[in-house]
Amino acid sequence: MGTLTTFTDEAKIALDTLADRTSALVSPSLRLGVTGLSRAGKTVFITALVHNLIHGGRLPLFQAQKSGRIARAYLEEQPDDAVPRFQYEDHLKALIDDRIWPESTRAISELRLTIEYESASMWNRMFSGGKLSVDIVDYPGEWLLDLPLLGKSYSEFSKDSFELAQLASHRDVATDWINVATSVDADAPADEMLAQKLARTFTEYLKAGKADEMALSTLPPGRFLMPGDLDGSPALTFAPLPGLSDAKHRSGTLAAMMERRYEAYKTHVVKPFFREHIARLDRQIVLVDAMQAMNAGAAAVADLERALTEILSCFRPGSTNFLTGLVQRRISRILVAATKADHLHHESHDRLQAIVRRLVDRAISRADFSGASIDVLAMAAVRTTREATVSQGREVLPVIVGTPLKGETINGETFDGKTETAIFPGDLPAKPDSIFEAPDRSANDPAIRFVRFRPPKLERTAQGITLSLPHIRLDRALQFLIGDRLA
Ligand code: GDP
Repeated sequence: MGTLTTFTDEAKIALDTLADRTSALVSPSLRLGVTGLSRAGKTVFITALVHNLIHGGRLPLFQAQKSGRIARAYLEEQPDDAVPRFQYEDHLKALIDDRIWPESTRAISELRLTIEYESASMWNRMFSGGKLSVDIVDYPGEWLLDLPLLGKSYSEFSKDSFELAQLASHRDVATDWINVATSVDADAPADEMLAQKLARTFTEYLKAGKADEMALSTLPPGRFLMPGDLDGSPALTFAPLPGLSDAKHRSGTLAAMMERRYEAYKTHVVKPFFREHIARLDRQIVLVDAMQAMNAGAAAVADLERALTEILSCFRPGSTNFLTGLVQRRISRILVAATKADHLHHESHDRLQAIVRRLVDRAISRADFSGASIDVLAMAAVRTTREATVSQGREVLPVIVGTPLKGETINGETFDGKTETAIFPGDLPAKPDSIFEAPDRSANDPAIRFVRFRPPKLERTAQGITLSLPHIRLDRALQFLIGDRLA
């Protein structure tokens, strides 16, 4: 009898393991990273994507949906207990009920969307359960810009930061910090108040560069701009110091204190982020606000190009040696998407796409992307405008019509947030290269006339059913990012 029990117990364990394995087989999952610099449109993108899938939105270029093979899509409990949940319901309420833009991404969050589908191929129908869980991971692109720090000592980081601050585009906003930094003695005894003052003025400099008119794309350390839950911790209370030698700093000095905190930042913040999150991604979308940079002029465009190059290099572990130890699996599909294309007439969408392609050209040629497909797209996760034409004398101008946000202005006119208005947005340059030559622009002479619109009012069908959020090419993005897994 005894042996029999043992036998059944063992059999059960064996069966359990088998069940685990088969459940992993029949309900596969895919981790989709969503990133981009702050205000690029991550929160809006995820909300619109999930809403369109759950409510069967109009997605003609998303094959599985178009051919009616998606049985249903729904939210499920996310697999990682230690990561905050992406607050889909709150964001959706803001967009749809209140018609205001949701709160933007400030830290990492996650959401699991499960799709039940019928595979198009007989073979796949036999071997997969027709269920795919997409784990959407939303995180600030600023955090990716920390990767190069892993290969830099504190002295090197300091030297590089001072060099960047000397660039014509940075100098003005860096003055206060440089004045403080050049007045301190790195060999003087460590002083917490002084450390805080240096960190504060350095952070203010980094933040000032991000203001709308400057639109510079962020310098590391990324958490200084997007601290997440680390605000005020010692790992974030450091700053570069001028004139450091490569020799070891005498213990007890300001330089030694700053160096220790810089190293702690790398060990306790940067490395775990890459190991626990970036290393587990299968697919990635990088959102870009190219129009904002173009409106600010050539310096902002060059800066955006630099930031994108660094961001993309994070996804190809082969190209950066300090990543190889952290990353085992490689991201197989990367989409770089310029969002907010609803600010342009559709005649300009292809131009926007060509500009984004130009922005990532250098990044793609530099890193080794073999084995990964990269695509570029101009889209709008939420479409806030419709198109029309306006005749002016003999000319017929293509315009966009939407409700500008309260307080937005154009040509001296201030909007009340209620009135629909037709706007001629202007044309994007036909030659992508010209965006690198445009002079730095003033607020009165933008490349494209840009006002922020309110989220759209959702249409209802004759039967009273509310239609899902309108978009531009969101279906193409979906097809590229997950379409193959639903084939
Ligand atoms: P995040 O910081 O990347 O999470 O950026 P958000 O998703 O919060 O987007 C920042 C802002 O960009 C929003 O508040 C909107 O004003 C605007 N925005 C984002 N996506 C779109 C879009 O598809 N169309 C339009 N018209 N505006 C958008």
